[in-house]
Amino acid sequence: MVRDYARHVVRLWATSDGVPVTVKKTDKQTWCCDPCDGPLEVSYEVYASELSVRAAHLDTTHGYFNGTSVFLCPEGKEARPCVVDIQAPRGHGYAGWRVATAMNRRDAAPHGFGTYQAADYEELVDHPVEMGTFDLASFKACGVPHEVVLSGRHRADVDRLCADLRRVCERHIRFFGEPAPMERYVFLIMALGEGYGGLEHRASCSLLCSRNDLPREGEHSIDEGYRRFLGLCSHEYFHTWNVKRIKPAAFVPYDLSREVHTRLLWAFEGITSYYDDLNLVRTGLLTPESYLELLGQLVTRVWRGRGRFKQSVAESSFDAWTKFYKQDENAPNAIVSYYTKGALVALAVDLQLRRETNNRCSLDDVMRALWERYGKSGQGVPEDGVERLAEEVSGIPLGDFFDQALRGTEDLPLAEMLAYLGVDFELRCAESQEDRGGKPASKAPDKPRAVLGVRSMSKNSGCTLTHVFEGGAAHAAGLSASDVVVAVNGIRVTGNELESVVGAYSVGDRISVHVFRRDELMEFQVELQEAPADTCVLHMMQNVDESMRARREAWLGVVSEETARAVGSGTSSNQL
Ligand SMILES: [Zn+2]
Repeated sequence: MVRDYARHVVRLWATSDGVPVTVKKTDKQTWCCDPCDGPLEVSYEVYASELSVRAAHLDTTHGYFNGTSVFLCPEGKEARPCVVDIQAPRGHGYAGWRVATAMNRRDAAPHGFGTYQAADYEELVDHPVEMGTFDLASFKACGVPHEVVLSGRHRADVDRLCADLRRVCERHIRFFGEPAPMERYVFLIMALGEGYGGLEHRASCSLLCSRNDLPREGEHSIDEGYRRFLGLCSHEYFHTWNVKRIKPAAFVPYDLSREVHTRLLWAFEGITSYYDDLNLVRTGLLTPESYLELLGQLVTRVWRGRGRFKQSVAESSFDAWTKFYKQDENAPNAIVSYYTKGALVALAVDLQLRRETNNRCSLDDVMRALWERYGKSGQGVPEDGVERLAEEVSGIPLGDFFDQALRGTEDLPLAEMLAYLGVDFELRCAESQEDRGGKPASKAPDKPRAVLGVRSMSKNSGCTLTHVFEGGAAHAAGLSASDVVVAVNGIRVTGNELESVVGAYSVGDRISVHVFRRDELMEFQVELQEAPADTCVLHMMQNVDESMRARREAWLGVVSEETARAVGSGTSSNQL
């Protein structure tokens, strides 16, 4: 998305040897200074109040910025080295402030204020900076120093966090092959009450999380929140290779002034989304069962949107600027995510290669080949580069497969493909709109569940329809997103009651629904439909033969007790 950071430039002026220079703004983000003889000094004030991983935020508790939010780019001089002087705020309250960034220091002491440097503008804006009274911890992964910088109030067990992150980092470094491509790495973590987000950089990442997602002292298990946080860390760290170094040719060099199009985002976000959790199970931090639950939730997210029948992942990538990042109430009916479907495509590529080569080759090999051919040299990946390399590495033709998976809109044959690994693929109806899938139904339903085919939320003393699914009962009856449901069959509906009220009826029943559309009261007759089977649960098949178990274990990177016994190693649950 074009985020127009220049809108936060409050005022800007220029001088040369103390004499004012006339500045003229030529478009929304460009200023042009009159010619002058001496050096030109441009000063500007930036408003920084967006607490997200992608912007800049400054208040009395801390400062954080991405270079894209604060540094002007001198046109035509992008390749020149840059020096940044970060000055400490004045006042006693800030005596304890430090600086954390992956940017190289010039005169600044470690974690100190002072000067930092970057080889060019692109590098300058690829090292976000945090300053404040953060907690700082460190560890080494494959010999590379890593820092964990924790801002915001929290009660995290930092030692455990470091130990777990080290396992994740070493897994990724060894996946692509030592040595790691960076000399040091920084995790910049902001803990809040609520929040979730991450952004990758060449030698750091910025993460935003709920403080409840961080592990606490005395806890040893991995709950849902911590599992999600580790998945996020794993995701951004994988990007250190896949998109920061292996990148689309369209991004080399990156033009920050306008939209840059590629059909490859499925490979950079989808493959990264596939490996973020898969590599957690391969480190032993996730159990295979826990991983299958996450994979089932991923399938569910894709299967819930009918937009997947209209937009391919290649199109989703190409139109990310105006569709994926500008979603409206019709998004589930119109688009598919290159993250979620991209991750399923990655799974399908992996399974296709394993099956067609009798487990000789997998997506792991393709990723390593991408790293060797494109990532190490910084040469961009052509639009057909991933497909060509997958064919080259595996030696099998994949044209029809990729046409269907990347440019087609039919569902991927995952049930059949997962069976090769001894994994059962099951679809069931959602129990409620909170049901994210991945787990069996909590109880066997007495009768098929009747639904309106909407998503709703409690709002405006009624129940606002946030999404109306194409082909569903509400859609067929003429209901529309933003309608506020106030009564069903003449009885008032408040808050989140709508789903349970409707669920008490049977499939095929006709009900009367009163809604406010804008300020007009309207009545609709709705014939209830059966909840679609769009909720996925994956199970390990029991009693599989030795070869199937070996294939599954090669995929998950985990050796079961049975296999360990069979080879007589005497150890159990050995991680490869
Ligand atoms: Zn990503």
